[in-house]
Amino acid sequence: MGFNAKETKKLRNKKATTLANLLGCNVSGQTIYGIKDDYHFSLNKFIYNYSTFYQLSIACDKMLSNEKKVALEKSLKVKIEYNKVNGDHIMNAKFCSNYFNQNKQANQMSNIINQVIQALKEEAINEYTYCAFCHLTKEDEEGEWVIYNGLYIYAHPSCVEKEATQEEELLKLEDANINKLPLSIIFSILGAFVGVIPAMLVLVFADYLFAILFAISPVCAFLGYKLGKAPLRWYATLTAIIASIFATFIGVVIIYALLASMANISFMDLIKDPESGFVATILQVELFNAIGILCAWSYINYINQFSKRRNNK
Ligand SMILES: [Zn+2]
Repeated sequence: MGFNAKETKKLRNKKATTLANLLGCNVSGQTIYGIKDDYHFSLNKFIYNYSTFYQLSIACDKMLSNEKKVALEKSLKVKIEYNKVNGDHIMNAKFCSNYFNQNKQANQMSNIINQVIQALKEEAINEYTYCAFCHLTKEDEEGEWVIYNGLYIYAHPSCVEKEATQEEELLKLEDANINKLPLSIIFSILGAFVGVIPAMLVLVFADYLFAILFAISPVCAFLGYKLGKAPLRWYATLTAIIASIFATFIGVVIIYALLASMANISFMDLIKDPESGFVATILQVELFNAIGILCAWSYINYINQFSKRRNNK
């Protein structure tokens, strides 16, 4: 359903509480939620590509007309997207909100909330008042408004319970894959070595360090990890980083071993010779590797989030 709560955990509770107070809203975990003109809405923060975004979400019974949508996007600098589930259209308005001053931030948010809800009213779009999970009316059970995965939705308590149990089971299933971790680590290391080849070839044949090529190694290491099918938790990214640092180091060692054998001297003699610049090369290469990891970071996190969301469906 729509939004993964884990993606929003970076929003500190304290900051969310202050913002919610300024907006006259409530807070549940990291989700800010409230009611305006009978529309139930939620606000969540998430981070992508080093930028902070907020997302205003309202479950509606219809979508905005295209003209209205474009006009809102232009005037409010938001991006409106829909998550369609049966008759339920979850409208997500994403926007940048990089203010140091929380009063200014609250003003921006309250303006977006007001204008979006005004637009919904003008087009006679109502909020979705069937159960968000079963989409039915039950004779023996009333629905209630709940915060679920960052969304403020109407649902039967029993349906919420069922959905939460299913999600928990999926997570347990994924956690059970922890026994695949050794395989994932091996694939990750193999991936890192494959990924470090282009950078090493350029280093050997052009005697040149090309920073962006070092981004290939952590990405390949991460894809290797995924191939091993271990859980995509925080240690997936960590494994990819360590594997690429390791592969980069070994890559340089191999180059120096080749140089030593070509010069007919021992490897230890070569690296002990200050003229050979072994330590300087290692440091430089690892520095470039760090830059490569930074370049690959948002890609890895993006794939990580995307996979998690798909697994949760
Ligand atoms: Zn239901």
